[in-house]
Amino acid sequence: MTNPIPSSPAAALADVQSRLAAAAREAGRDPASVHLIAVSKTFEAEAIVPVLDAGQRLFGENRVQEAKAKWPDLRARYPDTELHLIGPLQSNKTREAVELFDAIHTVDRPKIARAIAEEQQKQGKRLKLFIEVNTGEEAQKAGIAPKDTASFLAHCRDDLGLGIAGLMCIPPVDEEAAVHFAFLAKLARELGLPELSMGMSSDFETAAEFGATYVRVGSAIFGAR
Ligand SMILES: *Cc1c(COP(=O)(O)O)cnc(C)c1O
Repeated sequence: MTNPIPSSPAAALADVQSRLAAAAREAGRDPASVHLIAVSKTFEAEAIVPVLDAGQRLFGENRVQEAKAKWPDLRARYPDTELHLIGPLQSNKTREAVELFDAIHTVDRPKIARAIAEEQQKQGKRLKLFIEVNTGEEAQKAGIAPKDTASFLAHCRDDLGLGIAGLMCIPPVDEEAAVHFAFLAKLARELGLPELSMGMSSDFETAAEFGATYVRVGSAIFGAR
């Protein structure tokens, strides 16, 4: 957490917002249907405040402990902020994750789905949940295999009573992202899921073109990590 504060995060945010809206319009979509998650991981509160002051209220973090250290104070100052977990969740962090976050994009295995279901019950909360799909079928990467997504969704819903809003993916770095975005969009359509979390700094416009409803953009707003 030693990154310099970008010279003008507000200007970078405005640039990303206008590029995102243009990409949505270009694809014949309502720009309001694509939500921009500002990914503030590794950045300190002092770097996040200018982005909050510029009006951004939707943020993403990839680690529970880091989010817990930064966000309670920021949220006290900006109470209408929404916080999404976009990184992998360990089951022993589930209680804190359900306390802290409004959405989890990385429901990636039965054990985590069950832990989230139990915590939501205990805390009387319902988060917006996404199943992470390993669209590249990479051995080292988290996520449900495409062929198992329908049965995992049924397990989440029928056995655990979880409301699943949509699908999320992180395409392999060496492959064309568009292919993965198109694939995820098709899978979500087949499963009747309305939300799609896909697209990062390098490809959020492409993701918007292929139907993303949430794009997760870090370095294009906050600067290099
Ligand atoms: C860090 C991260 C992002 C944002 O990446 P940038 O390239 O900085 O925009 C998006 N999604 C996930 C899951 C991440 O971990």
